[in-house]
Amino acid sequence: MTTKQMFIGGQWVEGKQHYELRSPYSGERIAMVPLADQEDVEAALSSAAQAARTIRGLTSLERSTILEKVSQLFQERLEECALLLADEAAKPLKAARAEIARTIETYKFAAEEAKRIHGETIPLDAAKSGAGRFGYTKREPLGVIAAITPFNFPFNLTAHKLGPAFAAGNTVVLKPASQTPLSGIMTAKLFEEAGLPAGALNVVTGSGGVIGDLLVKDARVKMITFTGSAEVGLGIKEKAGLKRVTLELGSNSAVIIDSAEDLEAVAARCVEGAFNFAGQVCISVQRVYVQQQLFSHFLSLMKEKAGRLVFGDPRSEHTDISSLIHQREAERIERWVMEAEQAGASIACGGKREGGYFQPTIIAGGASHLLVSCSEAFGPIVTVNAYDSWDEAVDLVNDSDYGLQAGVYTTSIKKAFDAAERLEVGGVIINDIPSFRVDQMPYGGVKTSGIGKEGIKYSTEEMSEIKFVSFKL
Ligand code: NAD
Repeated sequence: MTTKQMFIGGQWVEGKQHYELRSPYSGERIAMVPLADQEDVEAALSSAAQAARTIRGLTSLERSTILEKVSQLFQERLEECALLLADEAAKPLKAARAEIARTIETYKFAAEEAKRIHGETIPLDAAKSGAGRFGYTKREPLGVIAAITPFNFPFNLTAHKLGPAFAAGNTVVLKPASQTPLSGIMTAKLFEEAGLPAGALNVVTGSGGVIGDLLVKDARVKMITFTGSAEVGLGIKEKAGLKRVTLELGSNSAVIIDSAEDLEAVAARCVEGAFNFAGQVCISVQRVYVQQQLFSHFLSLMKEKAGRLVFGDPRSEHTDISSLIHQREAERIERWVMEAEQAGASIACGGKREGGYFQPTIIAGGASHLLVSCSEAFGPIVTVNAYDSWDEAVDLVNDSDYGLQAGVYTTSIKKAFDAAERLEVGGVIINDIPSFRVDQMPYGGVKTSGIGKEGIKYSTEEMSEIKFVSFKL
């Protein structure tokens, strides 16, 4: 058990106060983590502001080389980082390794992006008064970016903020989720090793409310990039004033099963999407809408596959599902499942809690206004319902305050295009579940799921400013 330090201005800094970090699975104490105070946040912000000049002076190739090196270092430390995730987040080892593999790729994409931040030439003479002039645009860094990240993909979602921020030449103050600070601290170590200039990355750990508020209101911060719950995201937006803000928030993602083709594999994929990391995924499969004739067969296939999932120690190779991040989350899910049961829904499998573990649970026939359906579950529950017509299925998916991604299994090209047109989401995933994500694609929601896009090219654009230049010849 160690006492951790924060990374500020290129130095490892002791905290004045600490909090205990415990494993969500075993309850064992993993580390003592600094609780940053106002003075620490001030030091981080002033280091980031000073380093903004240094990092602007680096060439594209130099920024790219640092990101490439970080990617390599993650490759070398893959196992160490995966074990860290198993300990602090109770992420089963198989899923933890997959997250680190994505992190390696995400930094690689960022390294590539650093080399292709292009502007364009503008035909100014298309306007009468523009004759004899030449115009072009270039992309400039914003300056200091505050990055606030959630607990569920603490390495990869941090990479989605640091990668494009440094590709575009910004500096960052990172506030990792209080449940998963070790991944943020490890990330800082790897950037230090990769030769990032001092002050370009600062990591402050502790309370979201305290640190978050200080970052969000500070005039030196030019942009806030936040991934987390809609509730916290909305509060940030209200306080951010004129700062640029991207919000990657939650969802209750849906999938339509319109085709009888390969139902066995489709059911396996839906079970994977619903219960991967115990459903603590923003694009977890939470609502499955199945064509009436396929409904009972599909439900039994899902039940059979969910029944095979192995609960246990996140450090075990065999574990598919482990404890939720806090016991209170398992207790919340338990209340939601009881509400559904009392309202007449049937619990097709699971439904029970043991401490911080909640069994993989399939709920059939629940109404759309129930919490298990209309709110973000962020836990191991999935609702399965039948529909009669294609239009009804589209309406059911759209009947949500959220709109991150939706999946559609169909063999009809007409329905596939219709879904792409009519589904009110940031991403339509044809012939797969909504949980599909690779790290270069544009990613971000509509409605309560957020504002702005991630995906390295897109966030690099969000993290830079277009400057226009006109030459009179
Ligand atoms: P959370 O909103 O509780 O916390 C996210 C971060 O915000 C943490 O670092 C936390 O310390 C910080 N925070 C808390 N209060 C704050 C405040 N007042 N001001 C500023 N920062 C504050 O979310 P979580 O429980 O860590 O993560 C789960 C949520 O994240 C889910 O809703 C999930 O859908 C969402 N999520 C979205 C995406 C996406 O890309 N759309 C990806 C992963 C997770």
